[in-house]
Amino acid sequence: MQASPYSNDEYTIGWISALNEEFIIAMAMLDEEHGRPQSTPRDDTNAYHLGRIGAHNITMACLSGGKMGTGPAAIVAENMRRTFKNIRFALLVGIGGGVPNGKKDIRLGDIVVSYPNGTYTGVVQYDYGKLNGNGDIERKDWFCAPPPKVLAAVDLLRAYHTRPKNPRNNMPGILDELGELYAYPEEHLAPDLLFRADHDHNPGAETCGSCDKGALVQRKARNSASSPHVHYGIIASGSMVVRNGTERDKIDQRYANKIFCFDMEAAGLVNNFPCLIIRGISDYSDSHKNDEWQKRATAVASVYAKELLSLIEPEIPHHSKLI
Ligand SMILES: [Zn+2]
Repeated sequence: MQASPYSNDEYTIGWISALNEEFIIAMAMLDEEHGRPQSTPRDDTNAYHLGRIGAHNITMACLSGGKMGTGPAAIVAENMRRTFKNIRFALLVGIGGGVPNGKKDIRLGDIVVSYPNGTYTGVVQYDYGKLNGNGDIERKDWFCAPPPKVLAAVDLLRAYHTRPKNPRNNMPGILDELGELYAYPEEHLAPDLLFRADHDHNPGAETCGSCDKGALVQRKARNSASSPHVHYGIIASGSMVVRNGTERDKIDQRYANKIFCFDMEAAGLVNNFPCLIIRGISDYSDSHKNDEWQKRATAVASVYAKELLSLIEPEIPHHSKLI
C-alpha cells in the first residue's frame, strides 16, 4: 500500500478498532483509500490506514497483537493524537456485550451509542473506584462526554431514522453491500436467545442446544428485523470480559440500571480526546456468549459510524472531491 498524497495534518477524524475483524470492516466503510501515512514519529507504534468517508479524511488504527483492555486502547489513542494533530474527534467502533432487562429491549445485532444520561457522561469504568467496608463501590471515574458537535449529529440521525414522515435510514443499504457474511445469522444456526440471568450455560456445550428453553426470557418479535435498532445510553467499560448474567445485572444495578452494554476499551480513550463509542451487540454478557453474531454486530456499528459522519460537516478545506 502506497503512502497517502495528504499530510498527517489533513486528517481530522480518528477511527479506532479493538479487534482485527473490526478493522477490516472499518476499511470497508471508506469511500476512497489513501494508503499509509507519509511518515510517523519514531515512538508511534500504531499502524495506520488512511482514507476518506464522505467529506472527511479519516485515520484508522487498531489495537495490535491481540491486546485488549483500557490500557492498550489508551496507548493507541495517545499515539494517534500526537501524530495527527488536527483530529477533531475519534470514533471507537466495534462489538459489545448487551445488558438487556426491563425497559432495555436490546437484541443481538442492535447498536449502542454512548450518550449522556443524568449525571453519567456516556461511559463509566465499573472496575475502578473505592471498595468501602460495607462492600459498596464508591465511583472515582470521571469521563468527558462526547463532543457537542457529534452529539448534535447523533440527535439529527436519530430524528431522520425515527421521524414518521419520510424516515431516512441508509444502514440497510450499506449493510447489504457488505454481502451475506454480514447479514443476520440464520435463525436455525445462531438463534437470538436471552436466558434468565441465573440460568448458566453448560460449560462443556458448544451451543445452547442443551440449555433449558424454559429459562428463556420471552420477548415480542420485532416488526422490522432487517433494520438494526439503535440505543443511546451508558457503556460500562473495564478490563474484564463479562460472561456472567448475575454479575452483569449486579453491575447494572450499581449504575441505576442505566448500562446498555459492556466494552473493554472506551475508558482508555474518552479522556484522551473527544470521542463517541459505537458498539454492535454480539452477546448478552452472560455464559451463553458465543462468536456467531460478531460479524453482524461489527458491521452494524461500522455502518452507523459511516452514516453519522455523513451528517457532520468538514471543518477545514481539503483536497478531496466532496460528495
Ligand atoms: Zn447456553
